[in-house]
Amino acid sequence: MDFKFSKEQRDIIRAARKFAQGEFPDRAYEFDQNETFDPELLQSACEMGFVGVFIDEAYGGAGMGFLEHALICEEFWAVDPGIAMSILSASFGSELIQLFGSEDQKQEILPKIVSGQTIIGTAITEPDAGSDVTGARTTARLENGQWVVNGAKMFITNGTVGDLILVFCKTEPEEASRHKQFSFIVVPTDADGYEARKIKGKMGIRASDTAELTLTDVRVPEENLIGNRGQGFYELMEFFNRTRPHVAAQGLGLTRAFLEESINHVKNRQMFGRRLADFQATQMKIAEMATKLRAARNLTYEGAWLLDSGKVDHALIAMSKWFAGQVAVQCADEALQLFGGYGYIEEQRVNRLYRAAKIIEIYEGAKEVEKMIIAKSLLS
Ligand SMILES: Cc1cc2nc3c(=O)[nH]c(=O)nc-3n(C[C@H](O)[C@H](O)[C@H](O)COP(=O)(O)OP(=O)(O)OC[C@H]3O[C@@H](n4cnc5c(N)ncnc54)[C@H](O)[C@@H]3O)c2cc1C
Repeated sequence: MDFKFSKEQRDIIRAARKFAQGEFPDRAYEFDQNETFDPELLQSACEMGFVGVFIDEAYGGAGMGFLEHALICEEFWAVDPGIAMSILSASFGSELIQLFGSEDQKQEILPKIVSGQTIIGTAITEPDAGSDVTGARTTARLENGQWVVNGAKMFITNGTVGDLILVFCKTEPEEASRHKQFSFIVVPTDADGYEARKIKGKMGIRASDTAELTLTDVRVPEENLIGNRGQGFYELMEFFNRTRPHVAAQGLGLTRAFLEESINHVKNRQMFGRRLADFQATQMKIAEMATKLRAARNLTYEGAWLLDSGKVDHALIAMSKWFAGQVAVQCADEALQLFGGYGYIEEQRVNRLYRAAKIIEIYEGAKEVEKMIIAKSLLS
C-alpha cells in the first residue's frame, strides 16, 4: 500500500489552497449575506484549471481523476463552502456526459465547461420526489423529432445561473419496471418554457444558486437525449458514484476548517486563569475531531482512488459520503460550542461553516439512503 500523494497531486493541493486562501476570505461574508456570487471568480478558477479536472484531455480537461477533483474540493471547502460550491458545481453533470454522452455531445459540451463558458446543472429532485428518485413525474415525449418536456424540479443547483440542465425525466411510462422508465435530456436554460425561480433563505452555502424549475412544453432536439432511452435510473446511480466522493470531500474540507478554527480559538481564549486549550475536556474534543477527520479522509480517498483505478466500489463511496457528512456535522457542533456566544453570531466564520455542514447529510443521497446502499451490498 502507498499512502503518499504524487508530486502532481501535491502541486494541485498547494495551488488550490493558495487560490482559495487568496480569493475567498474577503468576499465570503458578503456573498453569504447577499446570497450572491461573482462569476469572475469562477472564470479565474477555470483559468487555473480547477474545474472539471476529471474530464479527459481530448475534451479540454486535465485528464486527471476524481481523487484530484476531491482534493481541490477539500481545499476550497476548507476556506469557504459557499464559494467552493459555486465554483465546483459548475461542472455538476459533466460526469454524466463523459460517461454516457455521444462523441458529439462530449466535444460540444465538455470543453466549454472546463473553460467556464458553460455552467451545467443536473435536475433530478422534484417537489414530491427526492430520495425516491423513481417517484419523479417530469415527462419527455418524442414529437416530430423533438423531445417535449413537462414537469417541475426542486432545489436545483445552478437553476438560474446555468446554461444547460440535464433533466431526469420519464420517457418510457409504459415500462412495467419503474427503474426502466427514465432518461436524461439536455435542456438549454434559454429554451422556451424553461422557468427558474431562485430559492432564497438557505441555511448555508448561500453563495451557491439553488432554484425551483418549471418546464412547460420545452422542446429540444431528439439528439439531446444523454445515454440510452430508459436507462436513466442506472445512469444516475453511476453518476452518483462519481459525484459522491466530491460531496464527501466537502465534509473533509469543512471538518478541517472546524479543527483549525477550534485549535486557534482554544489556544487564545482565556478563562479561569488558563487557556481554554488547557482543559482536558477541550483536549478530548480536539483529539476526537482530528481522529474523525483522518478516518473520513481515508474512506474518501480510497473510494475516489479505486474509482480512478477502474473499480467502482459503490458501498465504500456511500460509506465515505455518509461518514464524512456525519463527521462534519458533529465537528460543526463541537467547534461552535468552543466558540461559545461568539460562534452564535453570523459574522463569525465558524457560524457560516456550521450552517453549511448539514447539507452534506441531505443532498446526493440522504444519510439513510447511503446506509441503505451499504446494507444492501452486505445483505443481498
Ligand atoms: C442546497 C441544495 C442543493 C441541491 N441541489 C440539487 C441539484 O442540483 N439537483 C437535484 O436534483 N437535487 C438537488 N437537491 C435536492 C436534494 O438532493 C434532496 O433534497 C435530497 O435528495 C432529499 O430529498 P428531499 O428533500 O425530497 O427529502 P425526502 O426524500 O423527503 O427525505 C426526507 C428525509 O427522509 C429521510 N429518508 C429518506 N429516505 C429514507 C429511507 N429510505 N429510510 C429512512 N429515512 C429516509 C432522510 O433523512 C431525508 O433527509 C439540492 C438540495 C439542496 C437543499
